[in-house]
Amino acid sequence: MDLGLHGRKALVTGGSRGIGRGIVTALAAAGVDVITCYQRESPAVESLRHELKETGGQHHVLLADLTRPEQVGELLDECRQRFGRLDLVVNNAGAISHVPYGELSIQDWNRVVDTNLTAAHLVIQGALPLLGPGSSVINIGSKSSEVGIPLRAHYTATKAALRGLTRSLAKEFGDREIRFNVLALGVIATDALDEMPADRRDALVQRYRGKTALGRLGTPAEVAGAVLFLASDLSRYVTGATIHVDGGIS
Ligand code: NDP
Repeated sequence: MDLGLHGRKALVTGGSRGIGRGIVTALAAAGVDVITCYQRESPAVESLRHELKETGGQHHVLLADLTRPEQVGELLDECRQRFGRLDLVVNNAGAISHVPYGELSIQDWNRVVDTNLTAAHLVIQGALPLLGPGSSVINIGSKSSEVGIPLRAHYTATKAALRGLTRSLAKEFGDREIRFNVLALGVIATDALDEMPADRRDALVQRYRGKTALGRLGTPAEVAGAVLFLASDLSRYVTGATIHVDGGIS
């Protein structure tokens, strides 16, 4: 199905691994030109560059630590210079840790808030001059922010905050025809899961599988499906929304 995305310009944060990578490769396959970023060198970065070259299109995989405001500024400068505009921004990069709340250090709190919330704010604010009518901003949220989850108070606080940010920006920029939405994800199986010791991975899959209506975890490609919808004109009357991509998890 042609979604009419050919030649559109996108910035996706955190595309080297996991869900972000699934989003980047799906957009590229749909004909979107993509700039994405990562924070540390790894074989995943080179393999993504290679994969995007094979796909074709104008893609750039750039080093930018989003917890550093000046590097967010440089990333947006690259978008301006290379693309001149953005039709889609996906705030995907995220950080998490599993820490009893009483032991949560201010450093860990700041790292998670800076990555998940402040970086999204800086990326959106910096992208505003590049976003024209019909453009779409997607913030990657989490179902966990609605239900709460022990040891992740800091993480869920940031994901809940993204929803407030999204709804307010949808109202503030509706007259410019810029749309803002959240994708609230359930448990998505990524390379991080594959890298876990088998017994831990099996226990985790078993536990979360049982909580979903569909009886399984999601995939990055299934998150990308919702991104393609929100990137396209099929969703032109959808803004300020939280769309659940969670297999019916409870
Ligand atoms: P991963 O940890 O697998 O990947 C995170 C990506 O973000 C990597 O590409 C990483 O780059 C990049 N990144 C992290 N911090 C920074 C930073 N400071 N600057 C630049 N890039 C950064 O995460 P997932 O794919 O699992 O998650 C993606 C998003 O989906 C996150 O927002 C997460 O909260 C959300 N989510 C995920 C769920 C899941 O089940 N996986 C469930 C609900 C929500 P690098 O390779 O350099 O580290």
